[in-house]
Amino acid sequence: MCNGDDMQTELENRATAPEGDHVTDRLGRPMRDLRLSVIDRCNFRCTYCMPAEEVGPNFPWLGMSEWLSFEEMLRLVRQFARLGVEKIRLTGGEPLLRAHLPELVKGLRAIPGIKDLAMTTNGILLSLYAADLKEAGLDRVTVSLDALDETVFRTMNGGFDAPAKVLEGIEAAQAAGFKDIKINTVVRRDINMGELVPILTKFRGSDVVVRFIEYMDVGNVNHWESDQVVSSAELIDLISNQWEIEPVAKNYSGEVADRYRYADGSGEIGFVSSISQPFCRPCNRSRLSVDGKLFTCLFATEGTDLREPVRSGESDEELHDRIAAIWTQRTDQYSQLRWGGKKKKDGDKKIEMFYIGG
Ligand code: SAM
Ligand code: SF4
Ligand code: SF4
Repeated sequence: MCNGDDMQTELENRATAPEGDHVTDRLGRPMRDLRLSVIDRCNFRCTYCMPAEEVGPNFPWLGMSEWLSFEEMLRLVRQFARLGVEKIRLTGGEPLLRAHLPELVKGLRAIPGIKDLAMTTNGILLSLYAADLKEAGLDRVTVSLDALDETVFRTMNGGFDAPAKVLEGIEAAQAAGFKDIKINTVVRRDINMGELVPILTKFRGSDVVVRFIEYMDVGNVNHWESDQVVSSAELIDLISNQWEIEPVAKNYSGEVADRYRYADGSGEIGFVSSISQPFCRPCNRSRLSVDGKLFTCLFATEGTDLREPVRSGESDEELHDRIAAIWTQRTDQYSQLRWGGKKKKDGDKKIEMFYIGG
């Protein structure tokens, strides 16, 4: 299952028939959403994503020449858009570490068919770039924030920087004109359970929607264990002790996040139940790594290289057909088939979250 954000508004699986050369996979799912990873590096070492003890100074990062250039990304995205992609989410690693990101945003904005342009960031650099990104045409931002208490924040992210800087980034995004900002909070039972009510209290009464994400068994380096997962049902009980909340109808059939609202009208809360209530049926997401590999599932073990065809001079039509062929063969349903929250067998190599961005 996919992660937070995005995942929801997000699984815009409108039950529309494919138009033009729009593709569907073998389960009839369209390709509507592309998560575009612009860098594999990060200025955090979140315990659930790229823990410092696994991803240290000698980690074999991709070299910069292996990264797709913006021009190469735009060329590929044009083909994705022809095949039905309407929404792009910039991600990483930490996307704000990629130099000149607003230039990429401008280019993406100009691609016909792209209706929604979003970014997920850890927010540490957001105050520097929010205005430029807005001006370049970015529609929405999601900011990851796992704690307000500095010690807990650092325990979650491997010891880096301060939550105050993330809050500054959120304010800068609001000042730049971003609306409906979302907060992604991954919940780990042993670390940040005590932070959930404070985070909600901070954003209650604003248009910022906090979404709690069940800790997922994505990748291998986080050494995921099911006892660290807190189910959305448990969180809903916990929050209900504090405030009266009530479920809100899904925006559309198959929406992945469960929406709740405060009964007193103070806003909404989201719950992404990737582990306790997996749901792959409407999954319409494709993912492109910064080195140009196309993945059709967050839990894939391998992607298909699109960089080599781009660099060896394939025509747009050939690239288009290549991407179409990959999507039409897709059968992924990892979360749904995963057995009751157990981790994959040791030795099953899954792609890392920081490589394809969630
Ligand atoms: N660095 C950016 C950030 O953290 O927002 C973007 C990339 S990050 C991989 C995208 C999202 O994935 C973040 O909201 C992060 O909290 C979430 N994430 C990473 N590992 C996760 C895991 N094991 N389970 C659930 N969510 C996870
Ligand atoms: Fe997540 Fe893969 Fe299922 Fe999509 S198909 S919801 S990416 S597990
Ligand atoms: Fe970096 Fe985001 Fe992964 Fe945290 S979740 S280590 S901020 S890529």
